Amino acid sequence: MKPDINSRIDNLLRSANLRRTAPSIAILSVLLQADKPLTQDQIAVNLAPAIPNKVTIYRVLERFCKAGLVHKAFMHKRAVHFELANHCSTVQCHPHFTCKKCGVTQCLIGLSSPIVKGLKKGFVIHRQQVRLEGLCPECALRGA
Ligand SMILES: [Zn+2]
Ligand SMILES: [Zn+2]
Ligand SMILES: [Zn+2]
Repeated sequence: MKPDINSRIDNLLRSANLRRTAPSIAILSVLLQADKPLTQDQIAVNLAPAIPNKVTIYRVLERFCKAGLVHKAFMHKRAVHFELANHCSTVQCHPHFTCKKCGVTQCLIGLSSPIVKGLKKGFVIHRQQVRLEGLCPECALRGA
């Protein structure tokens, strides 16, 4: 583990008032290094060889979400995708792009689509999620 990642994990856990446990450090490091949304299963694969059991991963992710450290970016193919909440506000996440060919999902940071205007009175928006699908630049070049 690179030292800068170590200190970023320390800072994140401290700012969220969370205890430093081996699973939380490992899961945060996976999310920090991935820099894109991951499902719980993908997180588990990245934790190899020392994979904590599913319940532990689930509980750590829930704790992170409650603390605002991590959030559920979107749901795709019945799987919640988690990401660090450092690139989005509580109300609005950045858009995501999923390539239909290679299956990779990327964060489109710096792009934003404003909360819809013209919504009927009475609705309270908590979060807006935008996920685009198509071909990533690499797959498009390869002439998919
Ligand atoms: Zn987000
Ligand atoms: Zn692709
Ligand atoms: Zn993202």
